[in-house]
Amino acid sequence: MQFVKGNNLPRVRAANQSSILRMVYHCAPITRADIAKRLGLTLPTITTNISAMIAEGLVQELDQQESADQRSGRKSRLLDIVPQARRYVGVEMRGTDSTACVTDFRGRVLGQAEAAAADRDYEYNLDMTCRLVRDLLAELKLGFDDIDALGFCLPGLVDTETGILRVRPSFNWFDKNILRDVRRRLDFHKPICVENNACARACGASLFQREQLNDVPTFAYLFIHTGIACPLILNTSSSYGSIVGAGEVGHMVMESNGPQCTCGNHGCLEAISSSRAIIARCMDALAKGEAPILRSLCAKGEAPAMAQILQAQEAGDPAVYLIVERAVYTLGVAIANIVNFTCPHALLIDGELFQSPANRRQLLDVARRNICKVTRGDTNFIFVEPDRYSGARGAAAVAIAHGLQVCAE
Ligand SMILES: [Zn+2]
Repeated sequence: MQFVKGNNLPRVRAANQSSILRMVYHCAPITRADIAKRLGLTLPTITTNISAMIAEGLVQELDQQESADQRSGRKSRLLDIVPQARRYVGVEMRGTDSTACVTDFRGRVLGQAEAAAADRDYEYNLDMTCRLVRDLLAELKLGFDDIDALGFCLPGLVDTETGILRVRPSFNWFDKNILRDVRRRLDFHKPICVENNACARACGASLFQREQLNDVPTFAYLFIHTGIACPLILNTSSSYGSIVGAGEVGHMVMESNGPQCTCGNHGCLEAISSSRAIIARCMDALAKGEAPILRSLCAKGEAPAMAQILQAQEAGDPAVYLIVERAVYTLGVAIANIVNFTCPHALLIDGELFQSPANRRQLLDVARRNICKVTRGDTNFIFVEPDRYSGARGAAAVAIAHGLQVCAE
């Protein structure tokens, strides 16, 4: 839906306003004439709506002026949204820790905080996360009245329509009504959006990394963490940042006789290349006395961190080298399959493994060798710097995108 024609005037007006605001948000700086042209609406309609939005404090005229219109010779002012007009809370609850941030309309972070979880229990994690949000708002001297919407993300299969987490097998969380439980705990009555944490990161990239993505019509976001996911995103003026595919790439079978996965199958991508799988394999190697360099880097009996594993790999630990090499190789083949199947214009790669330049090189080398020659070969591979808060910020992006989409409903 882009704009609505018909007799129901208030509805038409609201739908037009929503399309116009979305256009300003995603294409700023932009002139009124450009918006009219792109939406197929008349200039007076745009002018009236923009005036209302300026009066409301949602949209502003920028000081810089666009060069004169060639035909009329008139100069037209460039428009943008007012970043301070709205505020959002974004939260990521991973079960091991939680992060929260408050952003403005453009996703600029006004404040952020994190807390570690001492327990895997769902209720415990939710209590702890909601406390984190309350404390963060108090620190920023904000109340829930100052917040326009809240985005909440977590790993697992999420039903975004109902806000219910369907399953997160590794934590034994099934059918958890996140939307209801968060609303009750925070007593927050404005929109709450619940999303999978890889999809939230993809939404964040779509909204906040416009320059880097150079307005690509489609991109995929490969998120490699304790699990692996790869949502596919469609960017058009009417459905910016909409998730059109969020298949379970983590459970794509890469080695049918490979190690067992948390899903019960064997040789899933996640069972070889996720940080959980890599850490488990390194612990096996440590137990067998096969990883001397890693042993010297981490305390006995404790699971090594990915940073230590990368350090041991770089220092030439033979066992760690083989484990990481297999993980990266398998991811490279998976990327080739993703590209062959979906042909995204860009593929963002977000995983701690790829802080190592050698791993980046190996990954792209394997991927390029396995991408079918008849596939459109212009996918742009972009490595994302891992950031503790990218999930929380992505959750805020989900809330912003939802707000831009529903004005008309
Ligand atoms: Zn699996």
